[in-house]
Amino acid sequence: MSDLGDTPLTLRDPRTGSVVGQLPVTPVADVASCIARARVAGAAWAATPLEDRKSAVRRLAAVFLARAPELADLLVAEIGKPAGEAWTSEIVTAQELFDTWLDRIDDDLADIPVPLSPINYPGKDVVLKIEPIGVVGLIMPWNYPIHLPLRTVVPAVLAGNAVVWKPSEHAARCGALLNEIFTAAFPANLVVTIQGGPAQGAALVDGGVDRVVFTGSVGGGRAVAQRAAAHLLPTSLELGSKDPAIVLHDADLERAANGIVWGAFHNAGQDCASVERVYVDTRVHDAFVEKVVAATRALRVGAASGTPDVGPLINEAALHKVHGHVTAAVAAGAVARTGGAPTGEGYHYPPTVLTNVTDDMVVMRDETFGPVLPIAAFTTEDEAVARANASPYGLCASVWSKDLRRAEALAARVTSGVSFVNNCCFTGPMGSAAWGGRKESGYGVTGSRFGLEALVHPRTVCVDRSRGKKEMWWYPYGDNLVGMARGLVELTRPGGARLSGARMAVGGLLNRWK
Ligand code: NAD
Repeated sequence: MSDLGDTPLTLRDPRTGSVVGQLPVTPVADVASCIARARVAGAAWAATPLEDRKSAVRRLAAVFLARAPELADLLVAEIGKPAGEAWTSEIVTAQELFDTWLDRIDDDLADIPVPLSPINYPGKDVVLKIEPIGVVGLIMPWNYPIHLPLRTVVPAVLAGNAVVWKPSEHAARCGALLNEIFTAAFPANLVVTIQGGPAQGAALVDGGVDRVVFTGSVGGGRAVAQRAAAHLLPTSLELGSKDPAIVLHDADLERAANGIVWGAFHNAGQDCASVERVYVDTRVHDAFVEKVVAATRALRVGAASGTPDVGPLINEAALHKVHGHVTAAVAAGAVARTGGAPTGEGYHYPPTVLTNVTDDMVVMRDETFGPVLPIAAFTTEDEAVARANASPYGLCASVWSKDLRRAEALAARVTSGVSFVNNCCFTGPMGSAAWGGRKESGYGVTGSRFGLEALVHPRTVCVDRSRGKKEMWWYPYGDNLVGMARGLVELTRPGGARLSGARMAVGGLLNRWK
């Protein structure tokens, strides 16, 4: 991670490593005024009827989908995604996301009446009104540069908020294109894009937003949370992981191998939910490895392969890190069954399967964020669970077995935000599924009503229709107040003295009218 301040961003094509241009950043000193503009636009927006806000999101969907081919081409050019992945993981998922939130938002934002005892609270209505929090500050990574901002912007805007968001410095062109789409769909300054790196991110945290939603590395998340704490600013952190897959002896090995190969190598392994380590029952270890190696060798890597299955890493720093994990493992006794060294084409690293790995190797402990799949054997399920849990991370975990109940029970023992049985990775973009980590993988979630809760404030409203001159708990504290309160408790307490309780309570209530 580099902190460039106000220096223009240098844009590269990761498929070749060559420089393709520059892009000016938002001056750090301007970030606070971007937030102030969004606050003004947001205040008007919050007063707009929900139907109008839904119309704006329908407009967003229309503009977005009309420009989908352009978006997909840019995902290929800027991030190096294979075209199929660009379409499935960022365009189709976005279409589902728009539909999901448009379908559910009326229910999610409806008033919530509070049930009250008519004896204790006669004549009162209490209701929770779900209101926007104001301006959401959104700091984004580069690996899903279209879908990840949308998964917060869509519910935030429907709920009546403004958003100031920062794309990653490594996905600035995708950020600029998304900015054009937001500008075409929404009122001016409702969703403001600021370009730059950590310096602009820090200015966003300091600049007066009402919540920060951060997705990125554990280091970045920790720095943002520390900074936000100084402002008592709530944060949601979606961070990295080292997701385990556990393959039981009765798994369908063909499906497990195909699924785990995809789970490890899609987006060139640059997915927070990538399968980053496998524990396979020792009885099926060799057969499983054989299938994984065969499926991996069949993958086409890089543009030179025609239609690639695996694209490049994002930059040179990523290439060094990934190769560092592999060389350290091999030096300590691991065997690279495929891959093992950069291909030499741009920032490509070939999908690499490692066996003979041990849990103390960096490649089994730290997030590699590249196309590397280390496979270890286990002998008992308790051992597999213990080794899967011996990690500071906890985003996703998968268990592979034909015995679905046993697999589900085992998955529940692995500390993670998301569990899979016979699948992996893919639920992150779903608007109605909660996505979020445990341990150092972060806190807070995106998606579902739990994700929406971070973007709204439930204001409790109490309206009193009663005409009494006083409440029973108001001054003066007459002699019968304690008696009446005890009477109310006796009435409802299990085994309480109902008759005398009723007498005491009614006496107190009558006194209220005196
Ligand atoms: P990163 O932490 O380097 O950067 C993420 C964003 O934070 C960027 O916009 C960056 O400019 C900004 N930033 C970095 N340091 C900052 C600071 N000190 N103050 C303010 N802003 C700062 O992460 P990255 O390399 O862009 O993304 C990869 C990481 O993101 C991986 O660890 C991956 O697992 C994680 N990720 C998690 C999820 C999830 O849903 N849990 C999704 C995608 C990616």
